[in-house]
Amino acid sequence: MTKKLKFIFTNHLRERFVQRTNSRYDHLKICRDKECEECQKLKEEIKQKSIEEKREVDTQIIKRISKADENRSYVNNTGFMTWYYDKYGYDDKFQFLVHKNILFVVLIKRGRKIVVTCLDARTHLVGKATLQRKKYNKIPTKEEKQQSQLLEQIENEAQSQ
Ligand SMILES: [Zn+2]
Repeated sequence: MTKKLKFIFTNHLRERFVQRTNSRYDHLKICRDKECEECQKLKEEIKQKSIEEKREVDTQIIKRISKADENRSYVNNTGFMTWYYDKYGYDDKFQFLVHKNILFVVLIKRGRKIVVTCLDARTHLVGKATLQRKKYNKIPTKEEKQQSQLLEQIENEAQSQ
């Protein structure tokens, strides 16, 4: 290994990590009701938790990333990568780190490793990438909104470092 790049965590990653490592928030995975009050309540709670318990959340993320293995098969999967390239641009390099049921998506940008989000590794298996894309396409507004917010956030956080 050559020099170690610094990992940068986004708030989006922290929120997704809190959500995906706590079964309390499973409702968000299955609910498709945009107006659902329970969803709003849970999302608000996740947001609060990821801010108030930021240090603890970061410690947990670091712990899991340090034990994670790079999975090159994601990068070699065209369907999966098209989705990410459309989202972040073709100029950036990606790294996919897997630890147990969590898949960390790492964007290598300007000499830094920005961990943009984490996914459930079991539902984002390489072979299922196209299925996953179709699922997202069914609910474009919510996802698109999140994507553009996420991009903006990454830019802001990258610049403030
Ligand atoms: Zn709901």
